[in-house]
Amino acid sequence: MPVALIRHLIDGVEHGELVRTGPVFNPATGERQHEVVLGSVADVEAAIAAARSALPGWRATSLTKRADVLFRLRHLLTERSAELAAIVTSEHGKVLSDAAGEIGRGLENVEFASGLIAQLKGEFSQQVSTGVDVHSVKQPVGVVGCITPFNFPVMVPLWMVASAIACGNTVVLKPSEKDPSASVFLARLFLEAGLPAGVLNVVHGDKVAVDTILDSPDVDAVSFVGSTPIARSIYQRASANGKRVQALGGAKNHMVVLADADIDAAADAAVSAAYGSAGERCMAVSVLVAVGDVGDRLVPAIAGRLDALAIGDGTDAASEMGPLITAEHRDKVASYVAGAEAEGATVVVDGTAKQFDGDGFFIGVSLIDHVGTGMRVYTDEIFGPVLSVVRVATYEDAVALVNSNRYGNGVALFTRDGGAARQFEFDVEVGMVGINVPIPVPVGAYSFGGWKDSLFGDSHIYGPESFHFYTRSKVVTTRWPDPLHSTIELAFPGNS
Ligand code: NAD
Repeated sequence: MPVALIRHLIDGVEHGELVRTGPVFNPATGERQHEVVLGSVADVEAAIAAARSALPGWRATSLTKRADVLFRLRHLLTERSAELAAIVTSEHGKVLSDAAGEIGRGLENVEFASGLIAQLKGEFSQQVSTGVDVHSVKQPVGVVGCITPFNFPVMVPLWMVASAIACGNTVVLKPSEKDPSASVFLARLFLEAGLPAGVLNVVHGDKVAVDTILDSPDVDAVSFVGSTPIARSIYQRASANGKRVQALGGAKNHMVVLADADIDAAADAAVSAAYGSAGERCMAVSVLVAVGDVGDRLVPAIAGRLDALAIGDGTDAASEMGPLITAEHRDKVASYVAGAEAEGATVVVDGTAKQFDGDGFFIGVSLIDHVGTGMRVYTDEIFGPVLSVVRVATYEDAVALVNSNRYGNGVALFTRDGGAARQFEFDVEVGMVGINVPIPVPVGAYSFGGWKDSLFGDSHIYGPESFHFYTRSKVVTTRWPDPLHSTIELAFPGNS
């Protein structure tokens, strides 16, 4: 069967030839179902040029008209959510309910961005000096390059694009080449919602495309979400080129369980947060920190829940977990489980032993106990359905463990002790904290971001911080002169 070619969308028109392409698999079957064009320098420059030429018109478009586009987009996204979820499942592999979940969370960002008139309010100070007023305005940064990972092909592009466009910027979006169709679908919906061509352009590709964005003098800001090594290099290269950059990286999220926690609730939460989306979430729980003797009760409670998990094709309504993104990634995840015993850990459940029919990139879920901080299963972001358990004696040991980890994206505490929870919130060095909430992704009216090696740059993404990131402020000092009092004064002007 001939495969479809997924092409760029530049200035509202599809571009791209079958010159350099990459495979887009259906991870549930292993089928190479599409080819995606991998953009050349010229392709990306064309997209940047389209964004640059759309900028004067879009930044001059009234806030009301911009909000109208976002309202219409919200409506279209809701209406076509099932279609979009099917695209996500077919290229990413996550189950349909999970795909619908990410669309729902992306919609929150569109809703928040629709309130742009409130977010873009400036400030005004009357009579700062006699007859002199000062006000500030927020203006778009310009052309924004958005580079996104494979694991949330709808939500992460919407984290960036909804706010960037609301602020009057134009965008070049470079989605993951592993599941690129959702971005094209989104860009077409934006056009249908009334966004002028050229305001949002999609280019596909790899390092060639990304480097062209990072080096272009016509790109003013870069939003990146992906793994830590790439996030760090994007931050360094784009900021060395004078751009405003936010680069969100990888994670190793801990779930700390105190001895007083409800064991069943904690076990349910750990299973959901560790194995949902096959562990391919930057907010997945990958380390369970069992305090005191809680591990003796919690590990069997988790293990007892794993046999019943339904792993299969994400289009099957019975499936709770789908495959991993590629065969290579599945094999890498398996290698961590295979090496764990030799490092001194105890493999309680070995998901790599599970057999699956067909050529999909499936793997079973694994649970590894007695993990030490020097072991690879602890130090590396595995990004698969593997939960490690580290046992510690006290609350203080648990906090020290979390705080000494190089990542600081999300963390959760399970307890019934309000005082301990309050102290944890104060002590822990992590950007997003859940108290009896295993995946604390903030609602769209807040912003999302980790600390330490989980974020390079000083702005979190979406919500209020994105309106800061995607705007530049301008401060205007005004005097309406009284010609009778005009004088020459060469000294530096003071306020009086
Ligand atoms: P990735 O870093 O491999 O790729 C992310 C993007 O960078 C893609 O668009 C890719 O094409 C591009 N890229 C890859 N290699 C590059 C290179 N050498 N030079 C320039 N660009 C390059 O990440 P991924 O595998 O797509 O996504 C999974 C990772 O993303 C995990 O580490 C996960 O934790 C992280 N993530 C973080 C967040 C967050 O909010 N902190 C959210 C989602 C995913």
